[in-house]
Amino acid sequence: MSTFQAPKGTYDLLPPRSASFLAVREAISAPLRNSGYGYVETPGFENVELFSRGVGESTDIVSKEMYTLTTKGGDELALRPEGTASVLRAALQGNLHKLGGLPVKLWYSGSYYRYERAQKGRYRHFSQVGAEAIGAEDPALDAELIILADQAYRSLGLRNFRILLNSLGDKECRPVYREALQDFLRGLDLDEDTVRRAEINPLRVLDDKRDDVQKQLVGAPMLRDYLCDACKAYHEEVRALITAAGVAFEDDEKLVRGLDYYTRTTFEFVHDGLGSQSAVGGGGRYDGLSEMIGGPALPSVGWALGVDRTVLALEAEGVTLDIPAATSVFAVALGEEARRVLFATVTELRRAGVAADFSFGGKGLKGAMKDANRSGARFTVVAGERDLAEGVVQLKDMESGEQTPVAVADVVETVRAKLA
Ligand code: AMP
Repeated sequence: MSTFQAPKGTYDLLPPRSASFLAVREAISAPLRNSGYGYVETPGFENVELFSRGVGESTDIVSKEMYTLTTKGGDELALRPEGTASVLRAALQGNLHKLGGLPVKLWYSGSYYRYERAQKGRYRHFSQVGAEAIGAEDPALDAELIILADQAYRSLGLRNFRILLNSLGDKECRPVYREALQDFLRGLDLDEDTVRRAEINPLRVLDDKRDDVQKQLVGAPMLRDYLCDACKAYHEEVRALITAAGVAFEDDEKLVRGLDYYTRTTFEFVHDGLGSQSAVGGGGRYDGLSEMIGGPALPSVGWALGVDRTVLALEAEGVTLDIPAATSVFAVALGEEARRVLFATVTELRRAGVAADFSFGGKGLKGAMKDANRSGARFTVVAGERDLAEGVVQLKDMESGEQTPVAVADVVETVRAKLA
C-alpha cells in the first residue's frame, strides 16, 4: 500500500519551518493582546446559514468554496471559510454586547477552509489571526485596527507591504451607487457570468482582474463620488488618524473585497513579493452584519491576516525570524547508570524551567553528540561510568567548546547561572 498524502491544497507544518508559523501567530496577536482584545475561540464548523446569510449567498466564498456537510442528525454544517461571522455569532450568543461597555474587542487564531483552486499562497486549509471590535461606530477603532496590523507586520521585519484603503459607503449611499454602476455595466459587452455578477453583486465586477474587462471599466461611476456626507466625514477621520500615526496607505477606489458584509472602511494589506496571491491580510467595517444574522444593530470593524502568506512574504523578503533554540541543555548518558542519573538531572532541569532534552535510544557518544548538535542546545551534559565514580558530569559549552566537570548535585544551579 502506498503511503497517504495530505489532501490536495493542504500541507503539513513540520519543524523547523513550523516554528516560524508559531512565531508569526505570536507576533500578529501580540499587539492585539496589548490593546484590550480578549481571546475568543469558536468551533471549526457552523450552521451553513450563518455564512450564507452573513458572508453572502452571491459571494464566491459561499457559492463555490464552502465545505458543507449534512450530519447523521440532519444538520447542515459548513467548515468555517472565514472568522468574522462566527466570532460575531459567538459574541451575540454569549451576550458579550450586553455585559459591559462596547466595543467588545476580540482576537482569534485558527484554521479556515475554502475549496479553492490550489496554488502557491492559496490553499484549501489555511490559517488566520483575526481581530474584531464589535458594537461601536468610531473612526478611531478602524484606525486602531489598521495601525495594529501594521505594527504586527513591522515587528516581524516585513517592509515591502502596502496598505490599500477604501470606503464602501453605507446603507444610505451605497444602493444609489449600486444602481448607477449597474446602469453603466448593462451598457458593456460582458460575458454571461459577468453579466450575472453585475446583477447580483455589481461592485465585484470592479475587482475583475481581466484586461478586457478593466478596459471597459474606464469611466465607470466611482463610489467616492456617491459617498454621503456622513460616510465622507467618517472616512476622512480614519485617514487622518492613520496618517497621524505615521502609517502610510494608498487610496484604492476599486478595493471591494469578496465578502458582502462590508460597509464604509475597507482595507487590504498586499505584499509585492508574492505574485498573484498578494493579499496578506484584509478587513473592514461591517455595520450591518449583526442584524443580518439576527442580532441587534452593532456596528463593528475587524481584520484577518493570513499566517501562511505572511510566512511566504517573510521568505520572499529574506527575513529570518530570530527563533531561540528550543533546547538549552542536551544530556548524553554513556552506560546504564549514567542514563538513570542524567535522566533524573534532565527532569530536574525541566522542573527548574530550563529547556532540556536527552539522548534517547541508547546511542554511543558519537551519535549522541550529533543529536546534541542538532538540538541547538547551548550546553551538553555528558557522563560515563568514570565521571559518576567521581560524582561529576562533564558540562560542555557548545559555543566555546570548553568542558568542565561539575558535581552532579550542582548541575541545575550551574547551568541556570550560566544561562542567565
Ligand atoms: P479574506 O477574508 O479572503 O480577505 O482573507 C484574509 C486573508 O486570509 C487573506 O489576505 C489571505 O492572507 C488569507 N487567505 C484567504 N484565503 C486564503 C487561502 N485560500 N489560502 C491562504 N491564505 C488565504
